[in-house]
Amino acid sequence: MSSRNLSAAQLSGLVKAGDIVIPGDAELPSFSRSGASAHVDRMFDYMHDSDRDGLKLLFSIFNVLPAFLLRGILKLSEKDKALPGPLGAAARMINVGVKGVVMTLYYSDTDQVGINQAIGWDAKCDELDLPEGVEEVAAKEAPQALAAAASSEAERATMLARAGAAALSRLSVKERSAYVASLRDIVLRRREQIIDRIQADTAKSRSDALMSEIYGVLEALHWLEKRAPKLLADRKQYTPLSMLGKSSWTWYEPLGTVLIISPWNYPFIQALIPIASALLAGNTVIYKPSEHTPLEGLIEELLAEAQVPPNWVRIVYGDGSTGAQCVAARPDKVFFTGSTRTGRKIAAQASELLVPVELELGGKDPMIVFADADVQRAAAGALWGALTNTGQSCTSVERLYVERPIYDAFKSELTRQAERIVQAVDSDGSADIGEMTTGFQVEIVARHLEDARAKGAAVLCGEQWDGKSKAIPPIVLDRVSDDMLLAVEESFGPLIPLMPFDGEEEVIARANDSEYGLTASVWSKDLERARRVARRLACGGVSINNVMLTEGNPALPFGGVKNSGFGRHKGEHGLHGFCNIKSVLIDKDSNKIEANWYPYTTEKYRLFSDLLTHLFGRRRSALIKFAATGMKLEKYSDKAGKRGREQ
Ligand code: NAD
Repeated sequence: MSSRNLSAAQLSGLVKAGDIVIPGDAELPSFSRSGASAHVDRMFDYMHDSDRDGLKLLFSIFNVLPAFLLRGILKLSEKDKALPGPLGAAARMINVGVKGVVMTLYYSDTDQVGINQAIGWDAKCDELDLPEGVEEVAAKEAPQALAAAASSEAERATMLARAGAAALSRLSVKERSAYVASLRDIVLRRREQIIDRIQADTAKSRSDALMSEIYGVLEALHWLEKRAPKLLADRKQYTPLSMLGKSSWTWYEPLGTVLIISPWNYPFIQALIPIASALLAGNTVIYKPSEHTPLEGLIEELLAEAQVPPNWVRIVYGDGSTGAQCVAARPDKVFFTGSTRTGRKIAAQASELLVPVELELGGKDPMIVFADADVQRAAAGALWGALTNTGQSCTSVERLYVERPIYDAFKSELTRQAERIVQAVDSDGSADIGEMTTGFQVEIVARHLEDARAKGAAVLCGEQWDGKSKAIPPIVLDRVSDDMLLAVEESFGPLIPLMPFDGEEEVIARANDSEYGLTASVWSKDLERARRVARRLACGGVSINNVMLTEGNPALPFGGVKNSGFGRHKGEHGLHGFCNIKSVLIDKDSNKIEANWYPYTTEKYRLFSDLLTHLFGRRRSALIKFAATGMKLEKYSDKAGKRGREQ
């Protein structure tokens, strides 16, 4: 076999390292037997020159090293973090670079008959709900051919993603996180091009794209790649005293293939964070972006550059009907972010199929400013919270409650700052807000504004908007009542309804009087009071003396209550949401017959009943009595059980 990129010696060095990393076992062929190295050119064509040259040099060296020495070097490279300077960098190159090449070549090619048989593809096909006529093909053909017979793109993508699932699940979390680290490097390096693409689809300001989408993705990927190995490691759990001699565990295993459906407001964040979380937990992904901001081809390009095999993430483009087809293809979980209206439809469809669903839906988030807050800073926070992404954020400030003693001062400060906002779809980062992304959202904002005016609201700034243009300026409103549409329904635009309040009890009741419950913020110098109010708010997250910040920290779970959805994304809980949390109890090869096994006798009943008194009673001597009764019961049960077996 020959290669355009590698000499014969380099190729042999790669295969030598490949066989050490993947020696094969009863189920899987070794690297050299899999024929994976035949695809080396495809991968090397994608690489950057410096990476390619570094790897070629390493493969040349590997070729001449004795196998035992190479094995030692590969093992040592796992300690890359402990090694100093250039030694550490070289070890990292070997650990992540060489192993990455080997793993990707080995697992990415789903046409390899050896691997497909080994991972039980044929068996998997049997479990799928296949379209008519496909079963015959499945018996003979590899997944690509099988998927070609699927009745829709959604079904085809699901089949291919399922084909990739077994291979991905075999990797350790550390190996998976190497892909996430590589993705992070690529996003950082290519951020300006990515921002161009985001702006083209969404019409956001350049700084909005940088500070929310790029920063948000980098922070989250960084957290995930560092924390996932620990958070997904087997965890020892409490074992009750009555189960002495056993140990209890939770294992965090993949669900299989998960469907991620995203909205249009943050198309980059809503793609990469759930995709990376699902992959780290060992799942393959079907990703359905919004038809309004598909970023067509971009996510595929970045994943390919990070050497993520194509069947680990399949992207399906289309509108709601395509989304419904993806649900119908029966993924192992649906992770949905979008409107409450669509969330209901998806939950209904998935419930028929008994597919678990997580829903991250809309909000009508309150910001509560007490009279002791710093007016200038709170107004600046309110402005950013209401206007970032031109108000098209699920956690935007949509109701602004200000305590009466500072209401007028706050109103003038907010209006003064709002009038200075610069609006443009800029190319140099100098604009504060961009335009609205979709025409239908402009219509909703116009309807809310018209309704508020008709019911007596006063427009303090933004009067110049014609009710049609996508460049909606910040619109601050006074004399807002709780029955106006903009105080009740999600506006998802740059409207800032200001409302005065008198005291804690009143504002808590008004803030909670909403069908939504996503996030909130509370502003006060009195932290005791701020905490007290935060505890009583019915929502999934509260920022104190800041705004929209809980979702900025990737370690904190994100999600809502009421019509804002259920389940949690991000943080430890979010990562575990992509897992089958398997409970395991290990009884170390005991030959005892358990007390709660048969036969049941009156004597056993009495001893067991005494044991409960000693175990759960409050008397100090109970533990000694528990031990004595426990031993008696154990002996009695063992004898009775064995006698029963012999008879
Ligand atoms: P949407 O519900 O209209 O669409 C979201 C996605 O669902 C799109 O990809 C769409 O094609 C798809 N879809 C539509 N009908 C479907 C169906 N029947 N089956 C399967 N998929 C279907 O929402 P949108 O207008 O794109 O986004 C705005 C909404 O998203 C707002 O309500 C906002 O608050 C919410 N949102 C929530 C969060 C959060 O994390 N809670 C984050 C961002 C946006």
